[in-house]
Amino acid sequence: MASSEAQQQAARVAAALAREYPGAECELEHENGFQLLIATILAAQCTDERVNQVTRPLFQKYPTPAQLGALKQEELEELLRPTGFFRNKAKSVKACCQALVRDHNGEVPEELDALVQLPGVGRKTANLVLGVAYGIPTGVVVDTHVLRLSKRLGLADEKNADKAEQTLNQLLPQSEWIDFSHRLILHGRRVCKAKKPLCDNCSLHAICPRVGVEPAN
Ligand code: SF4
Repeated sequence: MASSEAQQQAARVAAALAREYPGAECELEHENGFQLLIATILAAQCTDERVNQVTRPLFQKYPTPAQLGALKQEELEELLRPTGFFRNKAKSVKACCQALVRDHNGEVPEELDALVQLPGVGRKTANLVLGVAYGIPTGVVVDTHVLRLSKRLGLADEKNADKAEQTLNQLLPQSEWIDFSHRLILHGRRVCKAKKPLCDNCSLHAICPRVGVEPAN
């Protein structure tokens, strides 16, 4: 059970982020759940901007799981190459598309348990797709930014993303899970950077214990 002190800190952080980033949303371009699912798989270790550059022509030419999953591994690798780790990503995308066709009639399932069974899909991806594409909040989306900032802000001192998600889910109301994720990710990209967090210019400075952050020289 989350302590009330931790819940108060989470509420302060969520409110400050809402003031700073009121309109924050997922920056991966998509027109449906399938496109968001594939874009999220491709976004590992890659910027959203680069993923969008790759997925725009990709989805135009291969708009369905059946079409994308039918591509040869080598063809898919070439198309995905700019996103990095393209061999593994091509494998995951192909297997994911084939599983969607085989097990779900070519549709993206709207249940967490079914989504995380798909190749290349973990809780982070499943929570993002369900929250953004279907408006179903199943959990805070814990990527590398959320994991890092949760620790610095004194919310979740976990190394494991799934454990951090469980902690954050307990600290925040379910209705805030998705917006909170987008805002924290944006703050991590712009201000609370991995190597050099810009604490002097951070709107959360007054409420941040800066756990694990080295004092500036
Ligand atoms: S004060 Fe520093 S450590 Fe805390 S959120 Fe802002 S940038 Fe990150």
